[in-house]
Amino acid sequence: MTNVVIFGAPGSGKGTQSELIIKKYGFDHISTGDVLRAEMKNETELGKIAKDYIAKGALVPDDLIINMLANVLDSKKNSKGVIFDGFPRTIPQGEALNKMLAERGCKVDVVLSLEVDDAELMDRLIKRGQISGRSDDNAETIKSRLEVYHGQTSPLKQFYIEQGILASIKGTGSIEEIFERVSKAIDACK
Ligand code: ADP
Repeated sequence: MTNVVIFGAPGSGKGTQSELIIKKYGFDHISTGDVLRAEMKNETELGKIAKDYIAKGALVPDDLIINMLANVLDSKKNSKGVIFDGFPRTIPQGEALNKMLAERGCKVDVVLSLEVDDAELMDRLIKRGQISGRSDDNAETIKSRLEVYHGQTSPLKQFYIEQGILASIKGTGSIEEIFERVSKAIDACK
């Protein structure tokens, strides 16, 4: 099983590139953002707790996310590959993922880090907000999400550089161009 983490700031194109990876490689997709949005829609306990954090642009607490992920992961046992999208977002989540995969006899094979500057991210997210209707795609929340990304999530890059599995990918240009870079990094790790 190939385990790919797709990593980057909000608006860096993780969802778009994940869809293309699924089509080309037949991998399964685990998006913590999508799982949380489904939990909120169904008004589950987790959904109710997550809602306030998400509205503020803050992260949902690690223990809740890690438990949620372990459950989803068990449902993907027979996959030929899994894309982790939106997880890990903190060092403790990164450590938890390594442990969870080790317990299942596998590991993170590659971390695709989509690099896009803040001005472009802001622009993309404002545009997305106008069509997606996502409650967290407004100027104020976007600003907090970018701050959270730089403070809590981007340190994971160093964490994965030390493990020798970070693939830094230029996240600007056409979707196809970016996907070519993504494909090369996946092919190199398989
Ligand atoms: P984006 O990457 O575009 O910001 P996501 O759909 O991945 O959006 O996530 C939306 C929100 O869900 C995040 O801002 C955060 O509040 C919450 N969230 C998603 N994944 C995690 C995670 N791994 N840990 C904590 N909170 C998370």
